[in-house]
Amino acid sequence: MSPPGDDLAPGEHLENFSLHQFFDPGAQSLATKLAHFAPYARGLVAAGVVMREVSGPAGRRVPVHDPTTGETVDVVMLGSNNYLGLADEPYVIERTVDAVRRYGIGCGGPPLLNGMTSLHRELEARLARWKGCEDAMIFSSGYSANVGWVTGLLAAGDVLVYDAQNHASLYDGIKLGRVRSVTFAHNQLDDLRKRLMQVRWQRAHANIVVCVEGVYSMDGDIAPLPEIRKLCTKYGALLAVDEAHATGVIGATGKGTAEHFGMDGAIDLVMGTFSKTFAVTGAFVAGAREMIDYLRFFARSYMFSASLPPPVVASVLAGMDVMEQQPDRLARLHDNVRYLVGGLRAAGFTIGCETAIIPIFVPPEIRIPHVVSRLHREGLFVNGIEYPAVPKDRQRLRLSVMATLTRDDLDFAIAKLAKVGKELGFLPGGGPRTQDGGHAR
Ligand code: PMP
Repeated sequence: MSPPGDDLAPGEHLENFSLHQFFDPGAQSLATKLAHFAPYARGLVAAGVVMREVSGPAGRRVPVHDPTTGETVDVVMLGSNNYLGLADEPYVIERTVDAVRRYGIGCGGPPLLNGMTSLHRELEARLARWKGCEDAMIFSSGYSANVGWVTGLLAAGDVLVYDAQNHASLYDGIKLGRVRSVTFAHNQLDDLRKRLMQVRWQRAHANIVVCVEGVYSMDGDIAPLPEIRKLCTKYGALLAVDEAHATGVIGATGKGTAEHFGMDGAIDLVMGTFSKTFAVTGAFVAGAREMIDYLRFFARSYMFSASLPPPVVASVLAGMDVMEQQPDRLARLHDNVRYLVGGLRAAGFTIGCETAIIPIFVPPEIRIPHVVSRLHREGLFVNGIEYPAVPKDRQRLRLSVMATLTRDDLDFAIAKLAKVGKELGFLPGGGPRTQDGGHAR
């Protein structure tokens, strides 16, 4: 049997297949499984939906190389988490290049052995102060930070209670560490209270950790942290917060969710990434000194993995300088979010938005890759998120806003989204569609 869709032109895969159809392939040989998936994956790449080759910095407009035509086209970037525009900020680049000259390109080992430089310690200390904690440690990615603290901290008998919309890396940490875990409905305090009560009742002396995201990566909404903190205190649980999309985005100076709510220092374990606002890679976990001392030896993704290269560490330090010295960047980010949301609402979209991530929901009968591909051909780079990453009725375009986008870029984006939305039916001409798929009255 030939692989499904082998006879289809690349664009036609988007019409005929969905990613979830390739999950759970049953008892196939590995060779058959790979051969079946390959035409679909190639179709997505050829249509400009995934793995777009950007041949320049992650700026407001990015040159995208099309390997099938050999052409390079400029598109407006509404899909990068380079929220403050630090990716090509000259001061950050200079500091990074200086660090290459002073420290070379890498350490050649993990932090406990030969991978700790004065730059790493400087960044750890600064991050700890910034997040109101005693100490911090640096991981080579946000993914490994979440996997590391979950598997390192929670032992048999301990319980992790977490929001259903936490990132995949938390789920993978739970699986890898075979951690006893309980999920609660997204941002639902009553459900969290119920779960905590049950866990405490069943295990009076268990260590319980509650984990939420400050800003959720899919919906862009904010966790009600003060209430969550109170529940943790009441039920004797530690509070861990993933600040990947909050750092540099919310709080008066961009310090994140605790600053946003005026509760600096009230989080027991703060995790944040360098892959969004700081536009590089890496992450940190901050907390009490004893907790960090412990995790340095028990988080295996820290202990057995090479340190971030010093130039990357220098670029994060430089990014923190820019955030302190140029507070107008944060103001511009918020202005851009307001402007874009206002424009999209005026065009007929129903947008709920609290941060720099703006979801536009697309009804389940419309193929998300097709929408992303159409927008790409119109000159707009957005990300499409479909099942199983989100529930089938919650598939969406996820727009990420940057401080460096101009009004022209945003007007262009609004016009293209409205045009393609009407054409493909996620902005029906009959009137604005509400987020639950009905029509607004
Ligand atoms: N946590 C959250 C909430 C994220 O959105 C991400 C990245 N999408 C990660 C963790 C993983 O971060 P990284 O890309 O640095 O591995």
